[in-house]
Amino acid sequence: MPKNPRGTVRAALTVLLAAVLGGCGAQGGASEPDDRPVVLTTFTVLADVARNVAGDELRVESLTKVGAEIHGYEPTPGDVRRASGADLILDNGLGLEAWFSRFVQTVDVPHVVVSEGVEPMSITGDAYAGRPNPHAWMSPLNVQVYVDNMAEAFTALAPEHAEVFAANAEEYKEQLQQVQDDLVSALAAVPPHQRALVTCEGAFSYLARDAGLTERYIWPVNAEQQATPQQITSTIEFVRDNEVPAVFCESTVSDRPMRQVVEATGAAFGGQLYVDSLSEPDGPVPTYLDLIRHDVDTIVAGLTGSTS
Ligand SMILES: [Zn+2]
Repeated sequence: MPKNPRGTVRAALTVLLAAVLGGCGAQGGASEPDDRPVVLTTFTVLADVARNVAGDELRVESLTKVGAEIHGYEPTPGDVRRASGADLILDNGLGLEAWFSRFVQTVDVPHVVVSEGVEPMSITGDAYAGRPNPHAWMSPLNVQVYVDNMAEAFTALAPEHAEVFAANAEEYKEQLQQVQDDLVSALAAVPPHQRALVTCEGAFSYLARDAGLTERYIWPVNAEQQATPQQITSTIEFVRDNEVPAVFCESTVSDRPMRQVVEATGAAFGGQLYVDSLSEPDGPVPTYLDLIRHDVDTIVAGLTGSTS
């Protein structure tokens, strides 16, 4: 706290001036205009990964906010304006953003599908059977492919920073490999008969594959998060038959259907998992690497009964 009241007034005026000069998006009191190229991603997870590759050379923003439901998102006129002002748009692809193909046609900005080159897994069950599971980022190994695609796209956008992007990409890919190794060894500690991952959305196929878990979910894709009685019954049967110790649900959907499964089976509610969105900066998963670590810790704690 400044002791001098005049100093406080002066500080307040400086902040005000900086805000006026820098526009409402100014961070850290920067009063210089930000003329870096703007990269817009469809959701928060991609924005964080992209920032790791871009460093300070590009301005990376997410179109959708923290906690947004991204599968069935409905873009606003403001989103269209924002996208029109961007220099590059990144989307996940694999059918994640159902709204995106129409949206991107309305703006004249290049876009890059960051999952290009990833080996997709298919959704099993329901009307989505056979379609690719879009949640490829739930394997850090796939995100290494995302990173390469981003570095290439950023280099095309700002060739003068090619070396920075390449170096950032290499460094971040090492961190992804570390998180992947930790993920596999942490889940290897779960006894084989307890290695079942039961969640609301079928968003964990890639992680379950990497970690040797059996995946089970109430609904395949969040676009229709209204669980049918049939879906709940079959999840209850699975939990009972396999004596699954804990079940989970994701941050962007209601956990009510899963609470019904908990009621009916006596399994523990193992906690909230993050997939389709990061948390706010002061929440549990402000970055993608935090998201994977948080989910792995939550799953291991739930399945080994080390919660509470
Ligand atoms: Zn999802």
